[in-house]
Amino acid sequence: MTDQESVLQPVPDTAADDRPVVTENGGLRGGRCQSCGAGSFPRAYICPSCNSTEIHDAELPGEGSLYTWTTVHISPTFATPYTLGYIDLSDGLRLLAQVLAPQEQLRCDLPVRLATSDQSPTGWGFVPVEGATA
Ligand SMILES: [Zn+2]
Repeated sequence: MTDQESVLQPVPDTAADDRPVVTENGGLRGGRCQSCGAGSFPRAYICPSCNSTEIHDAELPGEGSLYTWTTVHISPTFATPYTLGYIDLSDGLRLLAQVLAPQEQLRCDLPVRLATSDQSPTGWGFVPVEGATA
């Protein structure tokens, strides 16, 4: 397949993937580029690092650290308030996700892990690692 042909292929709707985000091992269901090894979540169709389309399903680490966060007070979709944060996974991928913890427990570089939760409208989010304190 030439580069021109690959651009003309329909793009799979990875957002329509209804498999659980949290894997049986507590990892994050995402993708990994077969060309450069970069992870993506949700699984990318085109690698943001090298533009390859050879991205396979992969289990990404379910642990990382909180880079920064904000609390959402107005939402047309979800009950408020809720907290969103950028999570740096242990393999280097940074992603936006819900943070399921009170504000007073949060700090930059707080160790967090992936968890399923009924508190989250998506059914998952990141929680502080036990023993980690602000
Ligand atoms: Zn790549």
